[in-house]
Amino acid sequence: MFYSAKPTGKVTAKSPLNSASILVFWVMASLSSLSLAEVYSVDQLCKKIGAKLSSVSARECRRLKFDPPRFYSVRGLPILEKHFAAAKNREYAPKILFIGGIHGDEYSSVSVTFKWLKTLAKHHSGSYDWHFVPLANPDGLLKKKSSRVNANKVDLNRNFQTKENAIAAIDHWRNSTKQRTRYFPGQQSLSEPESRAIHTLIEELKPTVIVSVHAPHGILDFDGKVQPPRRLGPLHLRQLGTYPGSLGNYGFYIKNIPVMTIELEHAGIMPKKAQISAIWADLVRWIKVKTKSKEIIVHIAR
Ligand SMILES: [Zn+2]
Repeated sequence: MFYSAKPTGKVTAKSPLNSASILVFWVMASLSSLSLAEVYSVDQLCKKIGAKLSSVSARECRRLKFDPPRFYSVRGLPILEKHFAAAKNREYAPKILFIGGIHGDEYSSVSVTFKWLKTLAKHHSGSYDWHFVPLANPDGLLKKKSSRVNANKVDLNRNFQTKENAIAAIDHWRNSTKQRTRYFPGQQSLSEPESRAIHTLIEELKPTVIVSVHAPHGILDFDGKVQPPRRLGPLHLRQLGTYPGSLGNYGFYIKNIPVMTIELEHAGIMPKKAQISAIWADLVRWIKVKTKSKEIIVHIAR
């Protein structure tokens, strides 16, 4: 970016500072006003979500009291985060990174994640450490016509790193797929701020399990080296295979973290209340059993 090096005459005349300090001051002022103009607050985002989704109100969103934002989308919307820490004496509590709405047109994946967030906000026991990112692709959701891809037209679930000697996601997309734009993985891995945010969170949290909610296949997909659950509520296990650049592929081949991909049945229709609870109960039970048997390992951050 280029900034004009010419301070205004007015400032030069009145300021006792020399021209170099004025220039520094002017550039910094321009930068800060620029960044202020470019990002939105959590409140503003909640308002937008409330206007877009019939199942999540702006009030409901604000009441969840999201953590101060650290990551932003291409268009400057916060990547919402909510951390429910394990109780202090629970050093080995399983850590779950829970992601909704990585595909912006899968509305139910965001709404259902908000419902689970609400439940947890009421009933968090401290036995687990939960980190929620209920809307990983806010730009995709909030476009007039919501899209799977982000504002740069990248499928965030194809933008993760692939193993060193494996085919890069972009080459796979070019050579082995029909180059469908909905699945464009970006020119290189982690080119997008939204996937970088998730990547950073994985590095930081060292999650025991990653859960990512999608729609509309109506199944549970699973990438990991442990025995997956046969079902979560109404969703039966069906492993679809991994795609280069997907979160499941990254979790499996690079991080050795089980990734559960919950595919709700409809993108635009909410599951029944009982189904939402059943999915949650089965998920928590599976994590409990597998950490107890040490089939999945709880990594202690730092
Ligand atoms: Zn999806």
